[in-house]
Amino acid sequence: MLDLRGVWRNYTVGDAEVIALDDVNLHIGEGEFVAIIGPSGSGKSTLLQIVGLLDRPTRGSVALDGRDLGTLSDEERALLRLRTVGFVFQRFHLLGGMTALENVALPMEAAGVPVAERYGRAAWLLSSVGLADRLTFVPAQLSGGQRQRVAIARALANDPRLILADEPTGELHSEDKANVLALLRRFHQQGRTIVVVTHDLDVAAAAQRRIEIRDGRVREMAA
Ligand code: ADP
Ligand code: MG
Repeated sequence: MLDLRGVWRNYTVGDAEVIALDDVNLHIGEGEFVAIIGPSGSGKSTLLQIVGLLDRPTRGSVALDGRDLGTLSDEERALLRLRTVGFVFQRFHLLGGMTALENVALPMEAAGVPVAERYGRAAWLLSSVGLADRLTFVPAQLSGGQRQRVAIARALANDPRLILADEPTGELHSEDKANVLALLRRFHQQGRTIVVVTHDLDVAAAAQRRIEIRDGRVREMAA
């Protein structure tokens, strides 16, 4: 599903040059559940943003389903991202002025889904993550675990084949972690491809494959 070849990502900050990704070569097959682990600052989020079409490599190529992403315009990339990728962030990134239902419906609006269908599907998605009774709550009225489940429902809005999660349990307590992990497992069983950046040993253990990243270089870990 994903192919990275000779991917570098450099940042220039003042006179300093930071190499966030250093010649990354990686293949992720359709339906895989992959955990990415590594110390803070090693390039995990950078890698996830590049495979999630939120960022571009400085050098090298990224292909999704054999299609070279470097050849796409910004509009084509945005459309492909909307239809193919669901992103879950450590700090949820929900819009505070909107209800759970509105947050989940938003990516469907961007994709042009008719309004009645949007809200129907958003309600169904929230029910499927155990939040049927919280549809009209705003994020400030929800616990951390509930916010993350709203964010997960939102990531599923346009039925993506690829779920990318950046430390999705990092802010959660153990029961909420277990809920989020159960959802990731369910999505994997449904045939989706899951790539999760994590420090959580339970999440890493649930993945079929673990990749370590250090100083921008990736290494496959023994199974
Ligand atoms: P991780 O997610 O593993 O903690 P990141 O991918 O966020 O690491 O960052 C990798 C390296 O790239 C770090 O050294 C970080 O300081 C640097 N970096 C990340 N984003 C930027 C940016 N926008 N500008 C400059 N440097 C950045
Ligand atoms: Mg990070």
